[in-house]
Amino acid sequence: MKAGRLALVLVSMASLAVLAQAPKQPDWTALQDETMRHYQAVLRLDTRNPPGNEHIVAEYVKQVLDKEGIASQIVGSDMNRSNLIARLKGNGKKRPLLIMGHSDVVTIDETKWKFPAFSATRDGGYVYGRGTVDDKDNLSASLMTMLLLKRLNVPLDRDVIFVSESGEEGSSGVGIGYLVKDRFPEIDAEYCLAEGGGVTRIGGQVKFATVQTLEKIPRGIELVAHGISGHGSVPLKSNAIVHLAGAVAKLGEWRPDIRFNETTGTYFRKLAAISPPEVAKYYRDVLSTDPKTRKAADDWLFENEPRHSSMLRTSVSPNIFQGGYRSNVIPSEAKATLDVRALPDEDPAKFLAQVKQVVNDPAVDVHFTGQSGREPGPDARLDSEAFKALEAAGMKVYGVQTLPTMSTGATDMAQLRTKEVQCFGIGPATDFEDPPKGFGAHSDQERLLESELHRFVRFTWEVVYDLAHAR
Ligand SMILES: [Zn+2]
Repeated sequence: MKAGRLALVLVSMASLAVLAQAPKQPDWTALQDETMRHYQAVLRLDTRNPPGNEHIVAEYVKQVLDKEGIASQIVGSDMNRSNLIARLKGNGKKRPLLIMGHSDVVTIDETKWKFPAFSATRDGGYVYGRGTVDDKDNLSASLMTMLLLKRLNVPLDRDVIFVSESGEEGSSGVGIGYLVKDRFPEIDAEYCLAEGGGVTRIGGQVKFATVQTLEKIPRGIELVAHGISGHGSVPLKSNAIVHLAGAVAKLGEWRPDIRFNETTGTYFRKLAAISPPEVAKYYRDVLSTDPKTRKAADDWLFENEPRHSSMLRTSVSPNIFQGGYRSNVIPSEAKATLDVRALPDEDPAKFLAQVKQVVNDPAVDVHFTGQSGREPGPDARLDSEAFKALEAAGMKVYGVQTLPTMSTGATDMAQLRTKEVQCFGIGPATDFEDPPKGFGAHSDQERLLESELHRFVRFTWEVVYDLAHAR
């Protein structure tokens, strides 16, 4: 009895000692009201772009940070479209970590919304509103993480920088463009976390997490066919429209060579491992070195999963076709514009030469439309401390594997990557079934599950804590 009690005392003293050393953890249940309050508050600020008016978010965030004693600064080239930068200082052992969310949202068609787009209405476990999944979720999760780091007085091995960024939806000059050009020392970091990833739920079950580690580079190519003009009653062999149509048809049939990089190779391998056998086969086959096996899988993906097909190669989509102005006039010129999304390591000159070869018509001139606004930067490394932290948090918070992805579209992380910041795109869990039903980003009824907002705050915290706390 006595010995037993002594043992008990020793055990509880030991656990007290452990408790004293263990980092303080947030009380997640207690935080839910506060998270929801900030999330709804920023959703209710109308920052549709154009015109943006993102300063109202910057000001809201600033007063929240002020109350907490976190220093921040509102900056911008246009003060109606300002950004906010806040920083928590670490001991400088490691280079900073940047966490950001954009404060603008795309415009709305008011007539289509069941709940007003800036009402942040809570209904049936969801929050509805423009920006709920793009990108006031990332903004709120980053803000909450800053508040928690400060409140729990977490000693840091690196600075944690938080940015509320304007202009992401089509006017990055006031946002990331300005920040990288005029404020780079204030946001310079080893790693950054921003939008672009997410966690996929199918049938209400969390299946896997994705983290965006690189993206394709948008480039435009123009085709201009030249011919002799004349009377429409006398058909000519040199007809510019005929030559252009031929060129476009050839490019429409053409699928540039498949090339994997570290991210896409890992992505398809991991996807195959977690997918039902009937589709897993295609993800595995497309990685095959046997040309026939690979080709069959490529054909299937092109037809059934075009986004995956685009991830395999530099893609070409003819999207504008212009020529002619009267039915009885043979025009001397016709023009088509191709949307090219290049793999990050694509050699533009070589690729242009390939396009010319496919067109194979001296009457058709082929050239780039101009400078791409975005240049490729190094991809985020999968063997980095950051990716490992993201994988660990995915397992801890969601119990799933993390797949690195390359986005086919462009994001604001491109500008940071050109400055050698390793960027990772993250996001909350959403239902795979939601976007086709019209509940996704940019749709007329954007929404997020309340439970997934809270889980995403926790996920963001876990990653930031893992990467930044003093060891
Ligand atoms: Zn966005």
